[in-house]
Amino acid sequence: MKLDAKVLRYMSPEDFRVLVAAEMGSKNHEVVPSPIISQIAKLRHGGSHKILSELARRNLVAKVQNIKYDGYRLTYGGYDYLALRTFCQRDSVYSVGNQIGVGKESDIYIVANEEERQMVLKIQRLGRVSFRSIKSKRDYLKNRKSASWMYMSKLAAEKEYAFMKVLHENGFPVPEPIDQNRHCIVMELIDAFPLRQISEVADPGKLYSNLMNLIVKLASYGLIHGDFNEFNILIRENGEAILIDFPQMVSIDHPNAEYYFNRDVECIRVYFKKRYQYESLLYPKFKLDTERQFSLDVQVAASGFTKEKQAELEKFQEEEGQLAQELGEDAYRVSDDGEENEDEESEEESEEESDEDEEEDVEGVAHARETEELPVSV
Ligand code: ADP
Ligand code: MG
Repeated sequence: MKLDAKVLRYMSPEDFRVLVAAEMGSKNHEVVPSPIISQIAKLRHGGSHKILSELARRNLVAKVQNIKYDGYRLTYGGYDYLALRTFCQRDSVYSVGNQIGVGKESDIYIVANEEERQMVLKIQRLGRVSFRSIKSKRDYLKNRKSASWMYMSKLAAEKEYAFMKVLHENGFPVPEPIDQNRHCIVMELIDAFPLRQISEVADPGKLYSNLMNLIVKLASYGLIHGDFNEFNILIRENGEAILIDFPQMVSIDHPNAEYYFNRDVECIRVYFKKRYQYESLLYPKFKLDTERQFSLDVQVAASGFTKEKQAELEKFQEEEGQLAQELGEDAYRVSDDGEENEDEESEEESEEESDEDEEEDVEGVAHARETEELPVSV
């Protein structure tokens, strides 16, 4: 799903009101009937109808026709737009640049503020698995009332921002969190390469022990990263390691804490052995080496990302993981129009696929996970 920043420029206040109405309606309707959108937007039906068609043409909403009624739903494009608009209004973002990463569950862009400070915009795209494969998994999803991609992606962004904030405030090597809205966060751009791209390390033993110390220090502050791997560790030119990507962090009070802790440790051991032929008998053990001294997990909960939200997100992530395993390769297939939900009787194809625009947007895109390894050494 591409972010079309150009769309930001052509939006009247009425267009915006209708889009927000579609968003509000989406909270309790999977497909929001057009009259409800008009009602929320306080526009005559005729007026909002025209605007909705126009928004659909720009892929900000999608027209959905099912047996019961016709209506619209907000698309990721529309949701992106609303978040970006908020960032613009708060002066945190002024312009959007190249896409630098496409993850399984996020898209990463370079953005800048008016002072031309470059930053990173991370857009959460949860539910690519389940909402895409919904056709074959109808029953599976029936019981999941709150499992909307919008809501879950927002939870993931809130979580990531909350954790990044307490970690940053407590001096951990993480990007500075700058802003959060809906399913997006804005953070400091780190001038570094993912460990995955570093073919040679001058002193692997030193980096290894730095990383293990970081795992232990996190635990002593009450936290486990949960996805401590070569993609989520950025290495600066001076060798400093910066940790990113927090939507799966857990408290060391989590029932499976030991499992997550060991998995993080193991990830580093295996990677260093395979990649740098470095092996050490020393590695942290959960029971021996972790002693809680601080409680950042409690601070996170107090900051508004509550235990309940945490549990809700975790349940969803687990289910997605299972589903992804069942589906294998196809799980994260994303269609060209970026639409996730195909559980409709018929969905009108957007009238025009603007190919000219796409070319331009894709230029300069580096797919972080897929790029050829650069011969980087530190
Ligand atoms: P995902 O959840 O999709 O794995 P990540 O937060 O790990 O998303 O980001 C994906 C990639 O984007 C990273 O591997 C890294 O290359 C790049 N990236 C993410 N955040 C930053 C940042 N703050 N500064 C520089 N690069 C970043
Ligand atoms: Mg990552």
